[in-house]
Amino acid sequence: MVIYNTATRKKEELKTIIPGKVGIYSCGPTVYSSPHIGNMYAYVCWDVLVRTLRYLGFEVKQVVNITDVGHLTSDADEGEDKMEKGSKKEGVSAWDLAKKYENEFLENLKLLNIETPAVMPRATDHIPEQIELIKKIEANGFTYKISDGIYFDTAKFPGYGDFGHLDLEKIKARVEENKEKKSPADFALWKFSPKDGTRRQMEWESPWGVGFPGWHIECTAMSTKYLGNPFDIHTGGEDHIAIHHTNEITQGFGAWGRQTANIWMHNTFITFDGSKISKSTGGLYTVFDLKGLSFNVLAYRYLVLTSHYRKGLEFSLDSLKAAQVALDKLRGFLAEIEVGREIDKNYKEKFVEILGDDLAMPEVMALVWRLVKDENIKPEDKKATLLDFDRVLGLKLDERSKGEEISDEISKMAALRLEARRVGNWTESDRLRDLIKTKGYVIEDLKNDCKIKKLVIS
Ligand code: AMP
Ligand code: ZN
Repeated sequence: MVIYNTATRKKEELKTIIPGKVGIYSCGPTVYSSPHIGNMYAYVCWDVLVRTLRYLGFEVKQVVNITDVGHLTSDADEGEDKMEKGSKKEGVSAWDLAKKYENEFLENLKLLNIETPAVMPRATDHIPEQIELIKKIEANGFTYKISDGIYFDTAKFPGYGDFGHLDLEKIKARVEENKEKKSPADFALWKFSPKDGTRRQMEWESPWGVGFPGWHIECTAMSTKYLGNPFDIHTGGEDHIAIHHTNEITQGFGAWGRQTANIWMHNTFITFDGSKISKSTGGLYTVFDLKGLSFNVLAYRYLVLTSHYRKGLEFSLDSLKAAQVALDKLRGFLAEIEVGREIDKNYKEKFVEILGDDLAMPEVMALVWRLVKDENIKPEDKKATLLDFDRVLGLKLDERSKGEEISDEISKMAALRLEARRVGNWTESDRLRDLIKTKGYVIEDLKNDCKIKKLVIS
């Protein structure tokens, strides 16, 4: 499989550290508000990566962290902690806020049929690990202390800025609120709690004083704890390239003299009305909103699959409607067919080839529809092949879409009718068939079974 590595700006053959196994760390949500469909775009993309690698036979361990402390309103250490700010806004404790939105995130994963990560570590549960890592970086001579915290001295990392192709002159010229920093690029590893004013809700003792970890250190500490050092793949949104991942790479250099991950993958943002959307700017739908608008949530997953993770997506309700129609059509088509035993070899080969080229999902979806329309393949084999592909697509293709689901009442009537037929009670069988028809369904008789279909009035 080849994967585009942001670190080298090239597609590279995936060579895993342990043959047959892959470790993936995906930067997780900051749990101060509801995840929107932009956030979930990222996690669907990485779920496709995980599922693809499993489909190809790898044993995958994915870690998705929960950022519940330290992420300030500006990614670059300025402003208030998002958790403390959110807590004031909602009138609940920062801890309760974190729990609430962590649960919402988990619910989102389920709704979008995203496979549960092996580990979902919280930053607040890993304060000792973060302190140990800062101590290591400090012992190696890469830190300095100012009045509000311990900072990484980026001038001591000659490669700083290479990863993000950053213009260092521009960064140095940036006017920062924090005048004590040696360079605007320097970032906090540990921040001290304010000396006066309201106390922080989340703070810990440390060798440097009471405070809390910077945002970037949690990901370096937890990725290496759960995946080893180095590990295979680190993922995140494109917004992480310039600051968060640049700083993670810098921390890796300060602690061990090298990068922690071999491959860094980034998803491009989804846009709405042409503008980038983030939780702090607000204004984008959540998965629950889409449900409220009577969409099948997996139609959103389908829509994501029609885009390439490095291209992003321009979201609109119209494109979501089109995705819903396509998903219903695909499921409807499969519901009509018995599943065969033969997975079509040629289509499977093509599927693996396209997926293996840096997850070319738009081409994968085109292949799906080419297979549906291919008259040379037996319908049962189409179904077997598509259900096999669904291990990666995760669209639950063997389910009916909402509105097409057969209710228990209809299923029960159909079962009674089948029994009536079995014992030769044709009057009862006809009565039940007519009754089912009045409810909007038709029965198609098979040898020892029957199929229920929605009555289509054209
Ligand atoms: P956050 O909860 O803000 O830390 O973001 C969680 C993940 O969502 C990060 O990996 C972000 O890069 C990603 N993300 C945020 N907004 C978008 C968007 N509009 N499109 C795609 N990914 C996004
Ligand atoms: Zn991270």
